[in-house]
Formats: sequence, structure tokens, C-alpha cells
Amino acid sequence: MPETIVKCSAPDCDKEATHKVGSPWQEGSFAELQTLGYTCRTHPEKVVAGILRRPKLRHPAPSEIRIYTLPQR
Ligand SMILES: [Zn+2]
Repeated sequence: MPETIVKCSAPDCDKEATHKVGSPWQEGSFAELQTLGYTCRTHPEKVVAGILRRPKLRHPAPSEIRIYTLPQR
């Protein structure tokens, strides 16, 4: 696996992300996990708040947002 460094999506944060923020959703028989952003250990709340403020995205309900731990390298 090539190493990909994903950075935290919080503004002003330059840290490596440790968690992925996503929302599982379903349309008919088609289901997928929509990736909304990435966060480091300290900013999950900030990143989620930022996602909910985005204008164009199909907004998931806050209860639909899940935070997944990224595999540790
Ligand atoms: Zn951060």
C-alpha cells in the first residue's frame, strides 16, 4: 500500500488525520459510505461542525455522521 498522508479537515490544523468522518446513505438498492472529511484526534467536533455548515453538500443529519478510525501506520 502506498503511504498517503491525509490531513485533518479542520481549518488551521495541519496534523495528520487519525479518523475519517463519513455518512452511510442509501438510495434504492445502492448504498455507500460518503466520505465527508478527515480529522485528527483533537478536532472531530470541529470537523463535523464544518461539514454541517457546507452549503452544497447533501447534508446528512448529525445522527447519520459516523467517525471511523483510520488504520494506524
Ligand atoms: Zn485537527
